[in-house]
Amino acid sequence: MADFTTSTTDHKNCSICKHIPDHKFVETLHTDARLPEQVDQLEILGGYGTYGHEQMRKCHLYKTYYTYLYDHDSESGVGIGWTDEEIQRITPETALYVMERVLKASQGDREYWTKKFQETRDSHAHQSITRHTQEVNRLIQELASLKKRLSIGE
Ligand SMILES: [Zn+2]
Repeated sequence: MADFTTSTTDHKNCSICKHIPDHKFVETLHTDARLPEQVDQLEILGGYGTYGHEQMRKCHLYKTYYTYLYDHDSESGVGIGWTDEEIQRITPETALYVMERVLKASQGDREYWTKKFQETRDSHAHQSITRHTQEVNRLIQELASLKKRLSIGE
């Protein structure tokens, strides 16, 4: 079992992560509350970022992982609506679990758009294939380096 003492305290010394709380939720449509601007400096690894499909982000300095959410009420068109934003710092083990889920979703999406492109040959489908291929490759690479760090599969 790896020792995570270092990795869980590293964020306190990090010039980006020290501004980001362990967890923060804001509603931005009706309140002035905002996430720290440093959230924008995190690398996006994959995922839509909507409820049930949280996005994976990473601080490249000490390899600290986060899940990020940006979701809004776009369907009903009635009522006052809402825009939710949320950041959560997660452990490397949780990151592994979330990233495998995001990877599966992305591979599924790539398959969907590949089929779509074979039928329609349209450029939107083609762009989606490219985007998901990049995401899949990025996630596979990240998973491999995280597993190495956690000494899994050695
Ligand atoms: Zn950091």
